[in-house]
Amino acid sequence: MRAAVTERAGAMAVLDRPEPSEPEAHEVVVAPEAVGICGSDYHFFAGELSEEAGGSEFPRVQGHEIGARIVAVGPGCRRELTVGTRVALWPLQACGECYPCSVGRPNTCDAFELIGIHVDGGLQERLSVPEEQVFPIRADDPAVASLAEPVSIAVRAVNRARVQRGERVVVLGAGPIGQCICLVARERGARVLAVDLQENRLEVSQAMDAETLLWTSADDVVAFARRWARPAGPPVVFDATGAPPAVRAMVEMVASAGRAVQVGMSGDDVTFRLGVLTEKEIDLLGVSCCGAAEFGQAVAVVERNPELLGRLVSHRFGLAQAPEALRFAMENPTEVMKVVIGG
Ligand SMILES: [Zn+2]
Ligand SMILES: [Zn+2]
Repeated sequence: MRAAVTERAGAMAVLDRPEPSEPEAHEVVVAPEAVGICGSDYHFFAGELSEEAGGSEFPRVQGHEIGARIVAVGPGCRRELTVGTRVALWPLQACGECYPCSVGRPNTCDAFELIGIHVDGGLQERLSVPEEQVFPIRADDPAVASLAEPVSIAVRAVNRARVQRGERVVVLGAGPIGQCICLVARERGARVLAVDLQENRLEVSQAMDAETLLWTSADDVVAFARRWARPAGPPVVFDATGAPPAVRAMVEMVASAGRAVQVGMSGDDVTFRLGVLTEKEIDLLGVSCCGAAEFGQAVAVVERNPELLGRLVSHRFGLAQAPEALRFAMENPTEVMKVVIGG
């Protein structure tokens, strides 16, 4: 079978590899149909992932946003897993023993294994997966099925933020994750203001039923958001950029007793006046990937919103073009919303 293998930092090639053997007990073999590429893939590919984020170990088949079909089912799997079923893959496997696992947060397990990071991922024609990571999904377009993974990050973020019906929520960054947060927060009944540097991204946020604001300067954005959520400022703000000016704007604009939620990944240092934490007593929350129940919620969000989420898919490539696709995505950040590889 063919596999797009990241052989070393900055080098991916499409190679022949042996197919996985018949699935063992509680395991299925899937044929990936669509694999979304995201920012963490760029960092892994460039060899930039920190040890904490899983490091970058080569050679590796990347791809953790996976829509697939089941092609073989091992003994003992639950009955809904049948050959031909379209599925989305929850990329996480946790150790079950460390502190975060012991308090019910396996998504921050110190020893977790993520598909496409620690174990080989979706950019190949066959992949064997433990059944717990396999979620049937009703989606006509496998690219839409693959969006369950980015949607699951948004579900995690909105759950961490405890978003309530009627609350005013600001989302900084209208890339795929920011868009998914808009959608999930709207579904929870919040009013959402999306902020981005790019007008064309904000048009998509409007389709997600968010109000929008073009990022001009941090001061202007903070002032606008605080007026928009008069009189106290927004009770919930998400940063989906990882850019230091946006993170500073988040902690400045959030209401006292509010929640500031960091979703965008970054290796940058950010400075802000510590007084905002003590004076406003805000909750500053980080978001990693999600747990199994949240992945199930994400699948349901995708099933309810296939057309809307389909708008996030801006470019499609075949598996044979995977190296070009990744390069294209990395070189055209303003043009690309979501590159999907498959077929
Ligand atoms: Zn991703
Ligand atoms: Zn663990």
